[in-house]
Amino acid sequence: MPLKSRSKSKELKVYTSLNSRMDLEPSDRKKYTNLKKGYDGEVMFDSLTASLDKKFLIINDLNLKSENTTFQIDSLIITKGTVIPWEVKNYKGNYYYENDNFYLCTNRKPITNPLHQLNRCETLLRPLLHSKGFHLPIEGYVSFINPEFFLYQAPQKKNIIFQPQLKFFLNELSMLPSNINGMHKNLADFLLNAHISEPDNMRFPLYEYEQLRKGFICACCQSFSVTPFEKKIVCNDCGYEESLQSAVIRSIEELVLLFPNIKITANLVYDWCNFDELKRKIRRILPKNYKIIGHGPHSYYVNK
Ligand SMILES: [Zn+2]
Repeated sequence: MPLKSRSKSKELKVYTSLNSRMDLEPSDRKKYTNLKKGYDGEVMFDSLTASLDKKFLIINDLNLKSENTTFQIDSLIITKGTVIPWEVKNYKGNYYYENDNFYLCTNRKPITNPLHQLNRCETLLRPLLHSKGFHLPIEGYVSFINPEFFLYQAPQKKNIIFQPQLKFFLNELSMLPSNINGMHKNLADFLLNAHISEPDNMRFPLYEYEQLRKGFICACCQSFSVTPFEKKIVCNDCGYEESLQSAVIRSIEELVLLFPNIKITANLVYDWCNFDELKRKIRRILPKNYKIIGHGPHSYYVNK
């Protein structure tokens, strides 16, 4: 097990919900697609590095602050002699490299240079570690994880690992002796403690309760086309089945994610889940899973 596993960021969760419940502006839709693609690529990367955790310390998805700047590390591996931050890219399609920049072939427009991102990350990580007395060398890599990514005129840089090279690279890494000691563990603990779970650079689209589509969303494919039964809901698109209780709780969590200060009343939950015929069921699920505050029409629910 890595010391810290990856989970979807709050930003990705909000965008995923909004993408189903409203028509996002093209720029927001693009941002959602990028967030999702990035996350999928990182999960793919984690599955490849997972076995290294027997020898080294692995921390996935770190948000840190150094010199008043927030920065993100997709994955970090601590070996005996090196700290390895990874910038994982899930680009797909044809790109080319020219004059120290990456361009998309279709429109010849430059993209954010992942080597510059890696360099920024290393430049910020170094003083942060030095300030706590950790002086292990930092040697980061950019990994292009998608097998459908191709880079023309690729530079022969040792800190770029293309998808076909990754397995070999990680194999070589796994041959290194482990020799992790207390200092390495202290370093990992420091980073885990310094991790910021809700970084202040998150940006969300504008939305209001009234404008959002109401109803259950399939937990698997985010489709709105679900059929409720006595004790479960079934997705008409992917066939995924979920107990009604789990779907109600998940929908309430989604509601609180989108509106952190909202009061969870029974009427609000009926409206949000948008299944009038389920009122009786929902009325039973709520007190079983939440604590009721107050009485009568003004009562509301909070986490137990
Ligand atoms: Zn589905």
